[in-house]
Amino acid sequence: MIPFSPPRMDRKIIDEVIDTLNSGWITTGPKVKKFEEKITEYAGHKATLCTSSGSAGLELMLRWFGVQQGDEVIVPAYTYCATANVIVHCGAKPVFVDVEDDFNISIKKIEEAVTDKTKVIIPVDLAGFPCDYDEINSLVRRKDIVEKFIPDTNEQKQLGRILILADAAHSIGAVYKGKKAGNLTDITVYSFHAVKNLTTAEGGAVCLNLHDSFNNQEIQQYLKVKSLHGQTKDAFSKTQIGSWRYDIIEPGYKYNMTDIQAAMGLVELERYDVDMLVRRKQIFDAYSEAFSEYNWAWIPTYETDYKKSSYHAYLLRIKSIDEAQRDRIIQKISEKGVAVNVHFIPLPMMTYYKALGNDIKNYPQAYENFSKEISLPVYYDLTDEQVQQVIEAVVESIEKSG
Ligand SMILES: *Cc1c(COP(=O)(O)O)cnc(C)c1O
Repeated sequence: MIPFSPPRMDRKIIDEVIDTLNSGWITTGPKVKKFEEKITEYAGHKATLCTSSGSAGLELMLRWFGVQQGDEVIVPAYTYCATANVIVHCGAKPVFVDVEDDFNISIKKIEEAVTDKTKVIIPVDLAGFPCDYDEINSLVRRKDIVEKFIPDTNEQKQLGRILILADAAHSIGAVYKGKKAGNLTDITVYSFHAVKNLTTAEGGAVCLNLHDSFNNQEIQQYLKVKSLHGQTKDAFSKTQIGSWRYDIIEPGYKYNMTDIQAAMGLVELERYDVDMLVRRKQIFDAYSEAFSEYNWAWIPTYETDYKKSSYHAYLLRIKSIDEAQRDRIIQKISEKGVAVNVHFIPLPMMTYYKALGNDIKNYPQAYENFSKEISLPVYYDLTDEQVQQVIEAVVESIEKSG
């Protein structure tokens, strides 16, 4: 059986985790601080806050910006539920827009969806392929769009326009016009969940890159407090001699990362570009080369002259099939011992979001992408022989599916 996406767990990771367990400090402490500094260095944005998950990071930043009941947040219809659920947690309304055939949010549809209630747009770099950030960043600065914006909180007044909060759960290491995801817009959130490219089992990071009228370092310090119950000192600082007294400045959240997670992340990040991304690209290229011989194959775009994917998920589509045929093909592939997946079932098709009045008929491209899509295994330890087995299983299942 070829699994879909097991994490890369080797001696180096295990040793670092054991070192942390033996260090006498296992929750938020020196390793988290170091991991935050390394992430900032890596992507080139202004400051980083590590969190307990990508979802926690997204929600924390919506709360920081003051998103609440009566507000709208624009998201792609084609994404994982985390992108939209965090909006609901804040009492606001997720406004879904359709995507393009590269799986990413349609800029034209964003433009149509903006109202005087829109506070934030969350683009998602789906499968690791960066969105059109120049277009998104200029759209929110366009005079007529700025004039629609009604700020409620100090942060909203200071920004004076819609905030871009990029969901880069898939795209750490992706490049757009020479810059890395994390450094492409106002705020970006990574996920380090076990199935993601860089993992800490669970975890996430908020990359702050706000315009210099904001003090990003100061905001990072404030977010540290906000993500730990609004407590002015974390447990680590309180262990310093004579440093026991603390205050609660607001009812904050419990969204901090542990040093055990950061220990894994530090190992992963150090070898990420030179090792992890190299192997993932080899697997993507092997799939593309093999499938380009078949005219039923719709090969995903993962590189252009100014965009480079992080090669997170290989989203193969099969031309001129419907959802039921796709499901039958997946069944056949599974019977051949290869685990595949679908990324993702569009959110307007989910019970909860349907009940809110969303209808997949209004998102034809999202449905088209979904109904023809099969995600293939991509992970560090997948061998060249296994890549060949996956290709054979896919080809045989399609050619014999009728
Ligand atoms: C995984 C994922 C998230 C959430 O990340 P967690 O760390 O699991 O909370 C958000 N958005 C997308 C698109 C994801 O795939």
